[in-house]
Amino acid sequence: MAKESSVIDKIVSLCKRRGFIYQSSEIYGGINACYDYGPLGVELKRNVKEYWWRSMVYENSNIVGLDAAILMHPKVWEASGHINSFTDPLIDCKQCKARFREDDIDPEKLKIKQCPQCGTKGSLTEARQFNLMFKTNMGPVEEKSSEIYLRPETAQGIYVNYKNVLDSSRQKIPFGIAQIGKAFRNEITPGNFIFRTREFEQMEMQYFIRPEQDEEIFDKWKDNRLEWYRNLGITSDKLRLQEHAEDELAHYAKRAIDIEYEFPMGYKELEGIHNRTDFDLSRHQEFSGKDLRYFDDQTRQRFIPYIIETSAGVDRTVLTCLIDAYEEEKLENDTRTVLHLDAKIAPFKAAVFPLVKKDNMPEIARNITNDLMKEFLVFYDQSGAIGRRYRRQDEAGTPFCITVDSQTLTDQTVTIRDRDTMEQDRINMDNIISELKTRIEGRD
Ligand code: ATP
Repeated sequence: MAKESSVIDKIVSLCKRRGFIYQSSEIYGGINACYDYGPLGVELKRNVKEYWWRSMVYENSNIVGLDAAILMHPKVWEASGHINSFTDPLIDCKQCKARFREDDIDPEKLKIKQCPQCGTKGSLTEARQFNLMFKTNMGPVEEKSSEIYLRPETAQGIYVNYKNVLDSSRQKIPFGIAQIGKAFRNEITPGNFIFRTREFEQMEMQYFIRPEQDEEIFDKWKDNRLEWYRNLGITSDKLRLQEHAEDELAHYAKRAIDIEYEFPMGYKELEGIHNRTDFDLSRHQEFSGKDLRYFDDQTRQRFIPYIIETSAGVDRTVLTCLIDAYEEEKLENDTRTVLHLDAKIAPFKAAVFPLVKKDNMPEIARNITNDLMKEFLVFYDQSGAIGRRYRRQDEAGTPFCITVDSQTLTDQTVTIRDRDTMEQDRINMDNIISELKTRIEGRD
């Protein structure tokens, strides 16, 4: 257990040290389960989101994007079932005041109401249902009628816009709507750094289909999404699919499979793939009074489409990329910390160094940096020993380092160092951009 938690602790410390992720409002002592992304973290997160967007919206002509508001009409959450069903069973310890989700407590301890934290027997309360939605008020008056919610999932913004998108984009079933955005859940037991937070981002795609095609299309997306994580550079052996048993299905689902990753704390969900049937659109049709049926102009039939949903967490994917990429590699005389991030999501694609601060090397290296900046995010560094500069980039996950040295002055070549193999090759200064492009694209 100590070893397990220490991996996360090391990632937390690296994230803070190198500017990936900080505790929110840290100077005020922090706020629980909220995190801020620093200069490197914001790039990593953007790259993950962009890769998802590309694979959904750019690579599928029948999937379009959407960016819906976080605040929605309160009826949305009545229709979706969130007001009644988006709850977790909450249990308190009367002795030490700790709080638990009922399903997190060992069944043996639950039987004798023994607190998992302080060990007192008979100290646990009965479970009570706790709604995870954050409530706020719209407008200046705090009264029942002005109560609204921060969305707990992005999906509903897609469902309520399904007709708008259909009417304005000339899509025909099957088609999908993709969205990336913030969601908020007042989790009872957040934790494990950015694994479970109260404010997070989701990448969701809702695919509208004919009811009779649900099984075949569900399987297609399940395979497609698993492959996406592999292409993101995540170790294949650490990914698995986990089917939900019938009694574990959410109120809206006919079938659900989670894509799971083997985190230091065990296999945990990264993404859910759900067959939501016609549940959501039927409910919105009922509650809004608007006809949400699809008209098939070939068969002349009207019906409510089924929806296959792929619902992934951005922050959880970022955490997975960091954990999966992290290595403390033993070298002959010391150890280096390296993030083997896939080049396409690494914050900096390259770093540029003059070997020493003389003989025009800094000027040449600056010029190279300026050229590369038109294509990639790169980092210029001239301070400290070259070995230390390489190590700093290894830890930031920068896949390539370009160094200007004395040979550059005579033959216009530079070295390009590979983060993972630490091997260096000499290439002509004019070919750096094309060489980087080939190496970034060619890497798994
Ligand atoms: P869990 O069982 O872990 O609470 P869930 O089954 O409630 O997750 P979904 O509602 O299916 O999750 O949400 C889809 C995805 O959104 C999850 O797979 C996860 O990646 C992400 N997600 C959900 N809740 C959180 C959270 N509190 N913090 C970070 N990411 C989250």
